[in-house]
Amino acid sequence: MPNLFIILLGKVAVVTGGASGIGESIVRLFHTHGAKVCIADVQDDLGQKLCDSLGGDPANIYFIHCDVAVETDVSDAVHSTVGKFGTLDIMVNNAGISGAPCPDIRNVDMSEFDKVFNINVKGVFHGMKHAAHFLIPKKSGSIISLASVATTLGGLGPHAYTGSKHAVWGITKNVAAELGNYGIRVNCVSPYCVATGLALAHLPEDERTEDAMAGFRSFVGKNANLQGVELTADDVANAVLFLASDDAKYISGENLMVDGGFTRSNHSLRVFR
Ligand code: NAD
Repeated sequence: MPNLFIILLGKVAVVTGGASGIGESIVRLFHTHGAKVCIADVQDDLGQKLCDSLGGDPANIYFIHCDVAVETDVSDAVHSTVGKFGTLDIMVNNAGISGAPCPDIRNVDMSEFDKVFNINVKGVFHGMKHAAHFLIPKKSGSIISLASVATTLGGLGPHAYTGSKHAVWGITKNVAAELGNYGIRVNCVSPYCVATGLALAHLPEDERTEDAMAGFRSFVGKNANLQGVELTADDVANAVLFLASDDAKYISGENLMVDGGFTRSNHSLRVFR
């Protein structure tokens, strides 16, 4: 049953990586809940298309080209949002990449490692830093970053990805400690596997087919803790919506797992199945 209450009415949000995947679901849900949203992404066509599909009213939604690894891009996205909508209430640091898989540490390409950290860690920190410029003076706001089940368990992704998501969780706690002084909440959300572009990003483009996605779904379904339920981007967006809203007004410094108990369960001894 959809949530019938409009819980972000008049709030202003920036969503990085908002043009597709989980970010797109967050943008759509925030828009449904009455927020004014800036989509900040490197995919210009998809970002603009999403704006158009949501009515394209520049008083409510707009797209800006933004590479989160570039500090000035993030600063521009935040400043232009405040310029257009008058304020900022919510910063969602969602943009992230998995990086190329490399099963042998001896062959890790360090430029690929840097790329993952520049987007997943510095990109998140840029969002926190530039949102803080506007949230501190108003003494309110909510910053939410997308982390992962890889904040809790090793062996779920490439080394750089796992390290980067641990860093997201670490800086979330640290920034929450500083910004709590101003009544600003800082949290992260950690999903299990969702069938988005990220799931197939490591494959060559001509292999990113429906069949490959079906294979991914089947694999993650079998290895999930919660059986018979598929995690979708909308489920993750709902968790982000909750943390963005006043319903979560006393929740800060948290890592909200959206994993169906995956990181609380032992998957090596499946004696109960
Ligand atoms: P996705 O690849 O489907 O979408 C990512 C979006 O971020 C895209 O629109 C892309 O254009 C954008 N993006 C990539 N690099 C960018 C950059 N440098 N600057 C701005 N935008 C950029 O991925 P997703 O599955 O929607 O992942 C969103 C977030 O959720 C990521 O942080 C990811 O690590 C996290 N996450 C995803 C999963 C999953 O299974 N899909 C699980 C756990 C965590």
